[in-house]
Amino acid sequence: MRCVICNGSTIKKRQVDEELKDGDNVVLIPIEVLVCEQCGERYYTRQIMKTLEEIEEDIKEKKISLKEVGRVLKPSIT
Ligand SMILES: [Zn+2]
Repeated sequence: MRCVICNGSTIKKRQVDEELKDGDNVVLIPIEVLVCEQCGERYYTRQIMKTLEEIEEDIKEKKISLKEVGRVLKPSIT
């Protein structure tokens, strides 16, 4: 498998934090995906997409308990 972005040949499985939006909040989902070592492009298999969709649903239905690990900040416009 070659990277469709940079044509690099080193695509490896890596543990990443996938960002899901929940209103104004960002939820980080630790998940293993294929990542191009050269340009950082992430490749999602059908199975991973499905898993992420299920997690997103669970978050919406409050089936997953979340804890705060940081805050999302924006510059304040005065
Ligand atoms: Zn690449």
